[in-house]
Amino acid sequence: MKGKRGLVMGVANERSIAWGIARALAGAGAELAFTYQGEAFGKRVEPLAASVGSDFLVDVDVTDDASLDAAFEGLAARWPTIDFLVHAIAFSDKSELTGRFLNTSRANFKNTMDISCYSFIECARRAHPLMTEKGGTLLTLTYQGSNKVVPNYNVMGVAKAALESATRYLANDLGPDGIRVNAISPGPMKTLAGAAIGGARKTYKHTDMNAPLRANATLEAVGGTAVWLASDAGACTTGEVIHVDGGFHVLGMPQYENL
Ligand code: NAD
Repeated sequence: MKGKRGLVMGVANERSIAWGIARALAGAGAELAFTYQGEAFGKRVEPLAASVGSDFLVDVDVTDDASLDAAFEGLAARWPTIDFLVHAIAFSDKSELTGRFLNTSRANFKNTMDISCYSFIECARRAHPLMTEKGGTLLTLTYQGSNKVVPNYNVMGVAKAALESATRYLANDLGPDGIRVNAISPGPMKTLAGAAIGGARKTYKHTDMNAPLRANATLEAVGGTAVWLASDAGACTTGEVIHVDGGFHVLGMPQYENL
């Protein structure tokens, strides 16, 4: 990744998937810029960014076009081109990430889709002009609750299905310009967003016990996958959803050994 630079969106703290990816990209030689959401997260992200040699941080709320415009203008002023963008952003009202999907409200449906899916399209459109010289890579984060029912994941599952579809449409639009668009699908991980989902501990344990590798995803494994996809080694992969979940998604039924 030496000589490559890009924007990482979605670091909240050292447990964030975006941080695992940032660390791996920086470890492979990439230069990084970061966005964070609001002052409180900014204070946490600043020392993390500094630890990988970055002083380039911008406050962005992805529901606010003006803040997205300002971030990408700032980025373009500093770097005329970028090589990758990592979108690791999702949100839904915690009260609807538990119980019945049937009770999803219109307001939270719209907000969840806006932040967790539509924002990737906004970011892709803004990153596109910065990737025209030699192409680039766009990465987003999804979860298998998009195509299988995972209790409590509810409206976030619908948003992830839309996000995976958007990944394929963006891959086709941007492919002729040498831009690859992929989604990484980790198994459950212990992050702020992960903890907002009802029964998160059970899901984590269930995946850990049942996945073919009998282990959950790690920040290092997700980071390594991002390095592969963002580097020239991933040159022919686009429009994909790559699972980093210990193989859990291939199972048809649980396999508790002591059942
Ligand atoms: P996290 O809480 O560390 O990161 C979520 C990020 O989204 C935070 O940095 C938050 O500030 C940002 N965000 C939310 N609303 C925003 C807004 N309006 N504007 C700007 N930023 C906003 O949690 P995470 O688990 O690292 O989540 C990163 C991505 O990984 C998400 O897309 C999530 O759905 C996905 N994912 C998580 C898991 C898991 O189990 N934790 C599994 C698969 C996929």
